[in-house]
Amino acid sequence: VAKRLEKFKTTIFTQMSSLAIKHNAINLGQGFPNFDGPDFVKDAAIQAIKDGKNQYARGYGVPDLNSAIASRFQKDTGLIVNPETEITVTSGCTEAIAATILGLINPGDEVILFAPFYDSYEATLSMAGAKITCITLHPPDFALPIDTLKSKISKKTRAILLNTPHNPTGKMFTKNELQQIADLCIENDVLVFSDEVYDKLAFEMDHISIASIPGMYERTVTMNSLGKTFSLTGWKIGWAIAPPHLLWGVKQAHSYLTFATSTPMQYAAAVALSTPDAYYEELRKDYRAKKEILVEGLKAVGFRVFPSSGTYFVVVDHTVFGLPDDVAFCEYLIKEVGVVAIPTSVFYLDKEEGKNLVRFTFCKDEGTLRSAVERMKERL
Ligand code: GLN
Repeated sequence: VAKRLEKFKTTIFTQMSSLAIKHNAINLGQGFPNFDGPDFVKDAAIQAIKDGKNQYARGYGVPDLNSAIASRFQKDTGLIVNPETEITVTSGCTEAIAATILGLINPGDEVILFAPFYDSYEATLSMAGAKITCITLHPPDFALPIDTLKSKISKKTRAILLNTPHNPTGKMFTKNELQQIADLCIENDVLVFSDEVYDKLAFEMDHISIASIPGMYERTVTMNSLGKTFSLTGWKIGWAIAPPHLLWGVKQAHSYLTFATSTPMQYAAAVALSTPDAYYEELRKDYRAKKEILVEGLKAVGFRVFPSSGTYFVVVDHTVFGLPDDVAFCEYLIKEVGVVAIPTSVFYLDKEEGKNLVRFTFCKDEGTLRSAVERMKERL
């Protein structure tokens, strides 16, 4: 394997989902819903296929989808963007992240990451030859350590990779934290790459896109996707929104990574994004009920549960159960209890930092969540 990927193993999500199958365990690990996306979106995909929308799409997105993304972004942020020059459709947000990094980062450029961080960030930065500077967010609230950020940011910093609502902790960056990041970025001429795929799963506060802070749109790439919002994680439709001078790099990288994204799914995505806001309210209502079952259940089992404001994840401290670290705990949980969680050390550069924490997801039907809680109550 190439040196730039030597240190990376099979992704933890793939590892844990195959263990779930092998041990017939309830999978609260990898974040994919065990229920299906809405019929009107699936019907739109079937219709698009039947209508012959089956050849290569325009590289940066079918016009209907670019327009639907622009309208949604305007509703969410108040920002008016040109769907032709400021949006590129990608194969999931993971490709948007890769295209953004490969399109805008030179080897040796410094990029700041907040740990814990989603695993693809480190791997993709490594592929681009970036120099990673990591700042740890600590429990219980995973607040932004502004002084550390101030001390690590410099003229050599090219970008900050932000994720809000945040996987795995469920933290949402507050208006004040985003303003502090924005001030530093403007002062030091730093870009922000903002992964906002959980923006519609915001429970305790309103989601804020950093691009909407004055002076930030021109230095931000905002990334999002269809998967979480429409319970269609397998469709892999994502996008990046940025001013033309930044989007050009993203578009170029995307052109040579995947060239274009699945055509019929893009037409269906355009239909999905045009849905009235009532859809999102319903989605949040359903997820609130699921979250309550899991969070209250985990507390009753005896975990220390850290507050999660958004996403469909919650992080807990497992140490009361006496296992040496997160990986050992997750192995025990799969084999002896029959439940899968994600060990969080994979989300840190320094693996020691994540050893007390594991992540559970509540994107499962209520019966599944209840059974998982029962198993833990009985067997842990
Ligand atoms: N984003 C999902 C999670 O955090 C997993 C995606 C993947 O398996 N790569 O669980």
